[in-house]
Amino acid sequence: MSDQNAPRAEAVVDLDALRHNVALLAERAQVAVMAVVKADGYGHGAVPVARAALEAGATWLGSCSAAEAVDLRKAGIEAPILAWLYAAGEDLSDAIAAGVELGVSSLDELRAAEGAPIHLKIDTGLNRNGCPESEWAALVKAAKGHNVRAVWSHLASADEPGDPSVDRQAERFERAYQVALAEGLNPMRHIANSATVLTRPDLAFDMVRTGIAMYGLNPVPQQEDLRPVMTFRSSVAQVKRIPAGESVSYGGTWTAPRDVTLALVPVGYADGVPRGLSGRLEVWLAGNRRPVVGRVCMDQIVVECGDDHVSPGDEVILFGPGDRGEPTARQWADSLGTIDYEIVTNMYRPRVRRRYLGAR
Ligand SMILES: *Cc1c(COP(=O)(O)O)cnc(C)c1O
Repeated sequence: MSDQNAPRAEAVVDLDALRHNVALLAERAQVAVMAVVKADGYGHGAVPVARAALEAGATWLGSCSAAEAVDLRKAGIEAPILAWLYAAGEDLSDAIAAGVELGVSSLDELRAAEGAPIHLKIDTGLNRNGCPESEWAALVKAAKGHNVRAVWSHLASADEPGDPSVDRQAERFERAYQVALAEGLNPMRHIANSATVLTRPDLAFDMVRTGIAMYGLNPVPQQEDLRPVMTFRSSVAQVKRIPAGESVSYGGTWTAPRDVTLALVPVGYADGVPRGLSGRLEVWLAGNRRPVVGRVCMDQIVVECGDDHVSPGDEVILFGPGDRGEPTARQWADSLGTIDYEIVTNMYRPRVRRRYLGAR
């Protein structure tokens, strides 16, 4: 049996699905698409994702840290890259030397970004990074003479269509842009994330910054033709039969009500299976969804298979697109009270091997 058929812990990343999603977003936005590949491509692998996104029509890349941007350059990627969040006093010289464009939210960051093309960030109400409106005019004035490529911002509630904060932020964005024009700058504008592209194409301006939807996870309530890119799979390591009355895993939290077959699967919370899903997790195994019984451990889980025939080496799908009936990242997120962003990003782990489908 080949290793590929019986993986221990594997994230399969479908680059054809990713290209499909990028093309859909580009079609909807009708402007330049920045593929956001921060956090190692939301757990999918920044470099392969960046390449596939560029093949599908994205023309920019977005990373959070300057180091992530430099890593893309080291991989030979030449497309424009924007990085936007730094530690206080961080040395940005490597990123500047690598031609990375930098988000600038303050006078301190303007100094640190000296020599780089810059994107001035106005805080329009998210109140995280970004320049407060009260300091904007001073920042814009100080930025004259720098290579100001853009004025940009980020929305707080684009994933809640109709939320009044979106229009309020759009108005503040327009005001900030007018200040830049009045200072003689002629910057591009960008404010839209995935949810904005899908619900407010009027806010696409010159570029959209898409992350989650590119990975096939839909951030808005309406139906969209997005294809989830990641499938998390493992395989059965051992099969055993236990009699009624025996308990399973640490603490014996589950007791067999009758004789059952158990399948041991060698993935646990160290591989991104949240322990908080203990007692609520199902996997796809041998043609059915089946419950994981007992606690999720660091390295293993146990699947209850009734009287069905399962064998070592059988494929186990923990989450995927859902086409075959397997659980989805969204279902994990819903059971945990979180968002699917966190589920896939959590797969950024040394013990989880990545396998790419559709690489060119
Ligand atoms: C992460 C991020 C994005 C992408 O957001 P999605 O909701 O994943 O599309 C866009 N802009 C900024 C500033 C971000 O931090």
